Amino acid sequence: MTMVAINAAIATTAQNPDAAYLDYPSYNGEDLELTVDSKGTHWRLWSPAAEAARVILYPTDRNTAATDTIPMTRGENGTWVASVPKQLYGSFYTFSILDKGKWLAETPGVWAKAVGTNGHRAAIIDFAATNPAGWESDRGPKISHINDAVIYEMHHRDFSQHPSSGIVNKGKFLALTEPGTVNAQGEATGIDHLKELGVTHVHILPSYDYNSVDESNLPSNGYNWGYDPYNYNAPEGSYSTNPSDPSARVTEMKEMVKSLHDNGIGVIMDVVYNHTANNDDSNFSLTAPGYYYRHRPDGSYSDASGCGNETASERLQMRDFIINSVKYWAKEYHIDGFRFDLMAIHDIETMNEVAAALKEINPDIFIYGEGWTAGDSPLPVGKRALKENVARMPEVAVFSDDIRDAIKGHYTDASDRGFATGKPGLEETVKIGIVGATAHPQVDYSKGNNSKFAYAAAPTQVINYVSCHDDLMLTDKLRKSMPDATEAERKRAARLAQTIVLTSQGTPFIFAGEEIFRDKKGVHNSYKSPDSINAIDWSLKHDNADQFDYYRELIKLRKEHPAFRMTTTDQVARHLKFDKVSEPNLISYSLVDNANGDSWKEIKLVFNGSDEPRQVKIAKGDWTVIADDGKIKASGLSSSKGGKMTVAPRSALILAREK
Ligand code: CA
Repeated sequence: MTMVAINAAIATTAQNPDAAYLDYPSYNGEDLELTVDSKGTHWRLWSPAAEAARVILYPTDRNTAATDTIPMTRGENGTWVASVPKQLYGSFYTFSILDKGKWLAETPGVWAKAVGTNGHRAAIIDFAATNPAGWESDRGPKISHINDAVIYEMHHRDFSQHPSSGIVNKGKFLALTEPGTVNAQGEATGIDHLKELGVTHVHILPSYDYNSVDESNLPSNGYNWGYDPYNYNAPEGSYSTNPSDPSARVTEMKEMVKSLHDNGIGVIMDVVYNHTANNDDSNFSLTAPGYYYRHRPDGSYSDASGCGNETASERLQMRDFIINSVKYWAKEYHIDGFRFDLMAIHDIETMNEVAAALKEINPDIFIYGEGWTAGDSPLPVGKRALKENVARMPEVAVFSDDIRDAIKGHYTDASDRGFATGKPGLEETVKIGIVGATAHPQVDYSKGNNSKFAYAAAPTQVINYVSCHDDLMLTDKLRKSMPDATEAERKRAARLAQTIVLTSQGTPFIFAGEEIFRDKKGVHNSYKSPDSINAIDWSLKHDNADQFDYYRELIKLRKEHPAFRMTTTDQVARHLKFDKVSEPNLISYSLVDNANGDSWKEIKLVFNGSDEPRQVKIAKGDWTVIADDGKIKASGLSSSKGGKMTVAPRSALILAREK
């Protein structure tokens, strides 16, 4: 479109501050911002309303004067272009645009794929040289459906920083490339620990270049979760061994991915396209002021993220940005899945296009997200990628806050208890979790605590969990809500809670360190807390060896038995039968008729969240006892003929029979 048309559109912004942007042309080419070929180095910046644009060249990533400033000329579809007839590998650059008569601050752009210290300057590097040996044949694990995955959410620094980890590259991508690491007692840590535990995928907290940790002063600087995006398409510098070397962060992240893949573990990236760390001085604002964000009628930033702004996925260039960015991570870094932060800030159409684009690259890639916002948005509810709208996004899954809050108690009240800690009245909501939020003839959704209808079209659309990086993690929640209990009693409650999660229909998700009963010293929002709060103390693996063994066997049970991993609503309705029970904090059900091709004819699961033993009647038969009284073994603890059986307090009884 012409500049005249843009100016006319801007004139309407008094009524709707975002009206102008709907008329912006978009550019979806893969050559955005930087390409290097045999003819030289080329830039193409999308900035439809700019009055002029320029590229500024630097010899290093910081503290040096520009070597050249190159004016850009208008290109197609709102872009500005410049070229030099030389491959400028090793150089750095920024863009600046003339906006309303003023040159804006320099920016590395929105498509910087390599950056120097703190991401302020984009780098020109040879990506072919960043690939580890064997990268061409590198593949993540094959899975048929998302619910074949067992997801382990981890932060690079939590996982390796503690002295007890025995890991050399503490807090770095490379931590996950070190085999053979152990704690002081000789027990596996690091990647060997993950293999021993049996999880199929790690979900790494934000690993793109984020804003808050000063990469120029790493020893004195600590910690951040990383939900403050700065450069979406380059890895975070503080996780590399040398933030000033733009290739190092790329290579080391790829080495991490390859190491996990070589050990059969997939990598899910936490992506945060819903907001940026900065407002007027974000890379979005400095390349196309206003365009990438939603605004209130008074022109201020709307804030559905609770972080000061929200992006506008319904606008074509923003939508394409999200789609092209995840495609880039999938292709360049072989990422196996994506977790969308505050996904409901994005629109449904964007999420469906994201899923389609990723499945085209690799059908095993899966997508899930938080089906909620952190504040109100100008985006109409019917268009939001909400949990309640997930049936309209068939290839997307959402976190089940239903099962989370029902099992352990509500997240907003530390002392509140849940089903697994003895609070009655949550049985029906736990059952919603057990059936993966699908329609089931024996589940009354009107009694659900959060959602009042079966929002999932299939169990593959739900992520089941009781704890994650947000809010009180399970150990801390149990300490605060069971103040008079012993640690042994809390550990029992944790086992019961995770047994419900890992046996439910849907995809199970656990938070790193829960398996050794780590805590975060009661800090619920530890996003910038020091290592003393966040780092996992691996000596706990020794102290809580029984807990670790339980988790490992529980994961093994799930992976060996497809009955826990049904893929359709109809299958769940036909093969999952609840038993009538009259007491509170008791749920009993069976997976029947070799569900989903299982070798077991019937699996009986009874959950007792009370602190009293409960009697149940089990049909006569040749049963193998899989779990009982806080113990579990996938191959069986003992045998039973059924009849009257006792379910110990705060524990699961699981039985299986082959005929
Ligand atoms: Ca950074």
